[in-house]
Amino acid sequence: MIETSVLIAGGGPVGLTLAMDLAWRGIDVTVVEQRRAGEPPNVKCNQISARSMEILRRIGVAQKMRAAGLPADYSNDVVSATTVTGIELARLSIPSRGERQAGVKGVDSWWPTPEPSHRINQIYLEPVLFAHAKLQPRIRILNRTTFEDYEQDEHGVTVTTSDLDSNEKNSVVCSYLVGCEGGKSAIRKMIGGNFVGTSEVQRVQSTYIHAPALIGLLPGKPAWLYFSLNPRRCGTTIAIDGKENWNIHNSLYHGETEFDSVDRDWAIREILGVGPDFHYEVISKEDWIARRLVADKFRDRRVFICGDAAHLWIPNAGYGMNAGIADAADLSWMIAATLDGWAGPAVLDAYEAERQPITEQVSHFTTNIAHKVTKQRREVPAEVEWPGACRRRHARSHRQRGA
Ligand SMILES: Cc1cc2nc3c(=O)[nH]c(=O)nc-3n(C[C@H](O)[C@H](O)[C@H](O)COP(=O)(O)OP(=O)(O)OC[C@H]3O[C@@H](n4cnc5c(N)ncnc54)[C@H](O)[C@@H]3O)c2cc1C
Repeated sequence: MIETSVLIAGGGPVGLTLAMDLAWRGIDVTVVEQRRAGEPPNVKCNQISARSMEILRRIGVAQKMRAAGLPADYSNDVVSATTVTGIELARLSIPSRGERQAGVKGVDSWWPTPEPSHRINQIYLEPVLFAHAKLQPRIRILNRTTFEDYEQDEHGVTVTTSDLDSNEKNSVVCSYLVGCEGGKSAIRKMIGGNFVGTSEVQRVQSTYIHAPALIGLLPGKPAWLYFSLNPRRCGTTIAIDGKENWNIHNSLYHGETEFDSVDRDWAIREILGVGPDFHYEVISKEDWIARRLVADKFRDRRVFICGDAAHLWIPNAGYGMNAGIADAADLSWMIAATLDGWAGPAVLDAYEAERQPITEQVSHFTTNIAHKVTKQRREVPAEVEWPGACRRRHARSHRQRGA
């Protein structure tokens, strides 16, 4: 039997950040995670917000995080183009991490933060968090271990865990249990919480590809993210390693009700703007449904939920993990204050009161962006690809602005 102040179920980005924040406040923590030590997740999140980077700075991992991700000299720009290799329509210039260090300014340089946002995919981000958490003496991480069940009374929580290799069941006694086990969270259901919202906003075919030749076909300065806008197939392409690996999101249009309504290879070639001879390999693929769901309950007495366990929405604008990290930072000080005795347990009521309304608000904000983008995709005119159309449009909008 293990005794610990806080047990965290799930060692994804939210669970690990919560563990490190609690440890930084002097609280001993145990994390149970079903994956192997350091096993990377799927290729998902690509952006750590400035606020999350500030939290990572406080717990001492911001520098290591900033040293990982895209190469130091790889552009962080966001580009709208007819295709990834086609006509560039608009560009947001955002300094690479090397340029930031050298003082180069971009559209976000006025933000009042010591830690600007950082481009890094989750496959690189999580191993950095894991390695740092592993070094903390107050954190115990049990990999290949699943959360199974719990019972609570006024004194604490007794949790049953299972070792995936030996099938042995174990008990963990703790003061508080936090469910950070992602969207399928069992703990959300056990506290009597339900996801409320829209169960399907959009279907997305995501394909992670190895395409070493693509970077040589880019017509201008490379970008971190490309929005392809053309009348055949719109989509999003993200640079993962800044060299040869890319993730392509093909959001299905209205009326394309099944994942196989659209030929994956055809869509990828139209989004990239490459012909049938262009060679790429699929590293992994995922067909997923974007939702807008927020739990109607974030807590039952000594048991809480954080991150995707409490809310799920479409990744437009990059808020999913970042909102989860904000949940963790909020809950951490309240639990630490209660355990240290400088706040009464009533302070814990603030967690749901603060995080439920704000995440509900973000869920609508991101979904509205997704609806706008979907509408615009259907309205892209053929003229966008006419030679010179882009130059003429820029000149017209300059004239209209009186420039
Ligand atoms: C295509 C895509 C792009 C995205 N882009 C962004 C972005 O740019 N910015 C952003 O902020 N967010 C983004 N997100 C969302 C982001 O990936 C998630 O919000 C984030 O992973 C949530 O972290 P989490 O720790 O709450 O949950 P998860 O990452 O799901 O981690 C949960 C962990 O719990 C473990 N687990 C599950 N059940 C158990 C159990 N019973 N016992 C033990 N362990 C268990 C799992 O193995 C996993 O490690 C994106 C998502 C997608 C799909």
